Amino acid sequence: MSDLRDLYQQVIIDHGRHPRNFGTLSTATVIKEGFNPLCGDKLTLYLQLENQRIVDIKFEGSGCAISMASTSLMTQLLLDKTITEAEQLFSLFHQLMTQGQVEDPLHQLGKLTVLAGVAEYPARVKCATLCWHTLDAAVHGHPQTISTE
Ligand code: ZN
Repeated sequence: MSDLRDLYQQVIIDHGRHPRNFGTLSTATVIKEGFNPLCGDKLTLYLQLENQRIVDIKFEGSGCAISMASTSLMTQLLLDKTITEAEQLFSLFHQLMTQGQVEDPLHQLGKLTVLAGVAEYPARVKCATLCWHTLDAAVHGHPQTISTE
């Protein structure tokens, strides 16, 4: 199991240092900001939605390795997913963060499984879920900046 943990750790560090889909999106139809005051994580999520589908997604921001890695992995997973699929994934990811496991995680959540260990550190769960709360607010059109507090 410890080899697997090391591997997971490496993926988090890699995505934390070199986040994928990082930058602005000129074709964005929704832009949403999220903030986690507990840790200082900030992000701006850019979504291009067409017919209830995420056709493009990017983000900018700064924060701890977990928040950056989680957002990076989320954008990879959500590209070309429908909003309904995104909501199902959020609910699964939330379960992973609160219970530390879901059924068949690699199949359902793909690389996001590397964040399973975060469930052992409740204070860091907000770092990992900030991007999802921001996404949820973006697709539901909430006007304010999303704060985890
Ligand atoms: Zn953080």
